[in-house]
Amino acid sequence: MKRAIEEDLILREIDESIQDYIKFLKLMIKTDSCNPPGEEGKIASIIKNYLDEQGIKCNIFPFNQSRANLLAYLSDNFDGKILLLNGHMDTVPFSSEDKWKYHPLSGKVEDNKYIYGRGTADMKAGLAAMVITLKILKKYRKKFNGNIILNAVADEEQGGDLGTKWCVDNVLKNIKCDFAIIGEYSGFNPFPKSVIIGEKGRTHVKITTHGISCHASTPFLGKNAAYMMTDIIQNIDKIIKYIPDIDPPLTESKLKEFISQSYSNPEEFNKILRDNPHLNNLFTSVTQFSKALTILNCGIKENIIPDKCEAVIDFRLLPGQDSKMIVNGLERLITDLGYLIAKNSTKKGISECVDVKVISDNKASFIHKWRSSTNLSSFFKIVELIYKKKPFPFITPATTDAEFLRTNGFCPETIIFGPGSFENIHAANEHIEIQDFINCIKVYSLFAFKLLSSL
Ligand SMILES: [Zn+2]
Repeated sequence: MKRAIEEDLILREIDESIQDYIKFLKLMIKTDSCNPPGEEGKIASIIKNYLDEQGIKCNIFPFNQSRANLLAYLSDNFDGKILLLNGHMDTVPFSSEDKWKYHPLSGKVEDNKYIYGRGTADMKAGLAAMVITLKILKKYRKKFNGNIILNAVADEEQGGDLGTKWCVDNVLKNIKCDFAIIGEYSGFNPFPKSVIIGEKGRTHVKITTHGISCHASTPFLGKNAAYMMTDIIQNIDKIIKYIPDIDPPLTESKLKEFISQSYSNPEEFNKILRDNPHLNNLFTSVTQFSKALTILNCGIKENIIPDKCEAVIDFRLLPGQDSKMIVNGLERLITDLGYLIAKNSTKKGISECVDVKVISDNKASFIHKWRSSTNLSSFFKIVELIYKKKPFPFITPATTDAEFLRTNGFCPETIIFGPGSFENIHAANEHIEIQDFINCIKVYSLFAFKLLSSL
């Protein structure tokens, strides 16, 4: 790939500033922004101070005392292409510090190779790389046919309604983006880096069985809601027959084919699969619909037949499936088991029926035209140039803020790419490789430069 002189200068500047970048990232890691409660306002201030020093415009949108979202713009030009860089400032909490090698807020550098701490991979390194990208590209902004918007958000770890969703519905409402990068980890060690072009949806459904309570010595006088629920749970696998059969956007064989292309010798890839059998679970989780019973509540006293039992099921949906299909399928399954669905009950009051309700719903999304996207093909080439290995397209089993950008028409070409690997996310000893962090700064900077320099 032919490179402009400026691109070589950008790469050299990054290599010469590594210690400064580590210092900035450490400051972010040392600043606690566990959610709950959040306190993303402290991270927003760190970013604002850094960008203020560079003369880059930055607005903080505070809420709930210590929380905030942030927008920064490389320039005042909103006429050309717009690249959105999105990263969340909150992290999940850390329990049991004794399981960590170093304190989770230490930002400890180990062997000059790794940085440890809560939020390194999810996703302070990705966010720091995005802030640094703005600093690097500032000197070229007058040449650019477009703009970069940095959106540092709150609340991702609790669903994103107060963060990315709020920004898209309010401060970003009148902006149309051409391409968006979310800087979440996109490493799946020991494979090379992936570029994430889709994600599964997540629907939480609460099932409530309503029976009739009575004294436990005469159970035949009542209707045990716990037994109704266990009957439903034992048959829950049958739901697959009641929902439309959908092919995954990337099948297991296609995914393996894409990943194997990163290796010069196919045997090398096959050996990795043989040596790491757990990776097969990763393929299963991104190519299949899944469900898991996560909450079960029932009974108020040892000698009372329970008249109510509640269960929550976590469904993970493939792109093309939605919560309506799940509720519809569940209601048909429960009806076929012989129970009345509450909304169909004509009786007054609630008894001997089952209620099915969606309590949270994150939609699955996928860039269906990824093969024909020139922006994506440019992105893949830059990742290959920097990481020296061909990246592969992937879909993530977890939900991210991509849903808010990809599914409502705001920015269909939203990808996830960032430092870190899946195996230590939300776990003790979360860490990133420093080279991965530096490489991400290079990828973001070169891609933004290319995108905004082209007509
Ligand atoms: Zn994250």
